[in-house]
Amino acid sequence: MIDLMLPDIKRKKLNYKHIIFTVIILIIIGISIFLCIQSVKRNNTQIAMENVVNNNLNTQNINTENVNQEEVKPNDNVIYIIDDKKIAKIANNVLMTSIQPRLTNAAKEKMKHIYSSDYKRVFLTFDDGPSKNVTPQILDILKQNNVKATFFVLGNRVDLYPNILKREYDEGHYIANHGYSHQYSSIYANPYNVLDEFNKTEYSIRNAIGNQSYNSHLFRFPGGASGGKYATVKKEAIALLEQNGIMHVDWSALTKDAEGKFTKEQLIQNLSETVGNKQSVVLLMHDAGDKQTTADALQDVINYFRDQGYVFENFYDIMK
Ligand SMILES: [Zn+2]
Repeated sequence: MIDLMLPDIKRKKLNYKHIIFTVIILIIIGISIFLCIQSVKRNNTQIAMENVVNNNLNTQNINTENVNQEEVKPNDNVIYIIDDKKIAKIANNVLMTSIQPRLTNAAKEKMKHIYSSDYKRVFLTFDDGPSKNVTPQILDILKQNNVKATFFVLGNRVDLYPNILKREYDEGHYIANHGYSHQYSSIYANPYNVLDEFNKTEYSIRNAIGNQSYNSHLFRFPGGASGGKYATVKKEAIALLEQNGIMHVDWSALTKDAEGKFTKEQLIQNLSETVGNKQSVVLLMHDAGDKQTTADALQDVINYFRDQGYVFENFYDIMK
């Protein structure tokens, strides 16, 4: 009997050890599962918090882009981030199309009478830019005075400083075309070169501002649209441009900043002399890199026209 019972006791002891071992394993598995669940919960909470932070940041960004506050739902949850972005995109498109030049018959007629008006108006125009140093100063001064100007840009400068051109466009200035190279011998070799340089520059403008449907419809001939060595080619080019829906404009007053020899006081004196009693002034200035004096004189130029009771216009007031 004793011999027979001994194996039973041993078996029971073995079973008892086996049960304890199994229970310990189960407890370890249980604790592991519990820790895993806690970890997943923590991660979810963190993602949710990040989404809330992103939501707030997105709302702030959209607000700075002048989107209507009523359209944006800043207090809502993550789902509205998508809606807010859509709203911002739509608002951007509206902004783009709202400042698209349009050459209507009325605009053509207004262009023909650009130098006459029954009220005092002035178009501030800048040629030969954009430049790295001078153009941003000019943009700052225009912004401080809430004056919109017109920039007759060179394609080769636009390719160098597309971001400065984009700033001109974004700040509501009219981007017009001054050709690509400014090399008289090549642009005036024949009338088709004028059109080619116009098209090449428009292409650079479109890429810089990110608006592939932009067409300035407005050209300023380097050196002016008439007279000089290339008078015949210019005359033929005017007709060719008009056939292609492109108007041109020269100027009716200037500071003579191109000559590079005047102080800012003399620039204002030149301005005053060339403006005279004109009601409608298209003022020629330059924002090339060597025209620091133009930037220095600009506040005085603006003050001069304000004091004389002129209204500041740009070519969006014509091409609309
Ligand atoms: Zn020029």
